[in-house]
Amino acid sequence: MATIIDGKAFADTLCDKLTGEISQLQQQHQLTPTLAVVLVGEDPASQVYVRNKVRRCEQLGIGSIEHRLAPTTTQTELLDLIDRMNRDGDVNGILVQLPLPPQIDEKSVIDAIDPAKDVDGFHLINSGALAVGENRLVPCTPLGSLMLLKDQLGDLSGKHAVVIGRSNIVGKPMASLLLQENCTVTIVHSRTRDIEAICRQADILVAAVGIPRIVKANWVKPGATVIDVGINRIEEEGKNRLVGDVDFEPVSQVAAAITPVPGGVGPMTIACLMYNTLAAARAQNGLN
Ligand code: NAP
Repeated sequence: MATIIDGKAFADTLCDKLTGEISQLQQQHQLTPTLAVVLVGEDPASQVYVRNKVRRCEQLGIGSIEHRLAPTTTQTELLDLIDRMNRDGDVNGILVQLPLPPQIDEKSVIDAIDPAKDVDGFHLINSGALAVGENRLVPCTPLGSLMLLKDQLGDLSGKHAVVIGRSNIVGKPMASLLLQENCTVTIVHSRTRDIEAICRQADILVAAVGIPRIVKANWVKPGATVIDVGINRIEEEGKNRLVGDVDFEPVSQVAAAITPVPGGVGPMTIACLMYNTLAAARAQNGLN
């Protein structure tokens, strides 16, 4: 039976550490890191994510500003708000909750955020910096996944890591981070042939697909470490369930270590958002 990697406990420990650093920043520099969160529309899952992010800010002593905009908000209105927040010296981090309604182009919105305040790490400047190994603000989910891997395995050098998924927000940045750790990295996606055989070679398997339980036990090499990024809401036995991209029970009979869903990567994503907000506030004020 695999070790269950407790992402919630790790995230709590990280947040405790950040709380200490934030209080020090306030005492020594009279600086309160502040995150502005923008939610457009009424998507229930997005509302939960935003609520959780704001709650974590409050716990850590990070200031939070919430902008809840109508589902009919135009792109121009949203870009105007971003422009105001970019120029507002009291705002250190800007997060626009995705997905956005169809009348708004996500890419234009991400590109409009000041890269120094882009705590999601999605701006072209931050993605480019990560791709060339000059990390600035790194996307939270891959950053949190890497922290869990390093805590579990120590040195990752030479390990074969397979990342399932090539999105700009999870798969690609995850692959870049693993490459920086000197892993041999393979990315597989929806057009990959014989995906099971490639995954079976992985010492580290990261699943970021968005298909419930797609990763079966026969995709996993005995002794591998499995990071399940997926968050999928399904109806099962008359109940609403949250499941990952990994078929947890059978895979945990084969893997050496595995993250659960919920309680694995999810809490790390929010903790890393706090980490990035503190890092952004420090950098904007000329502090290390
Ligand atoms: P995405 O943008 O939809 O990307 C999914 C990736 O999976 C794509 O690269 C796609 O390939 C690939 N894929 C689709 N079907 C496949 C198949 N049958 N076999 C192999 N690869 C396949 O999703 P995302 O934003 O990266 O998110 C992935 C999952 O992570 C979702 O469940 C999401 O909810 C979750 N997530 C969790 C967190 C967290 O905090 N834990 C944060 C972000 C996302 P193509 O490129 O070829 O289409």
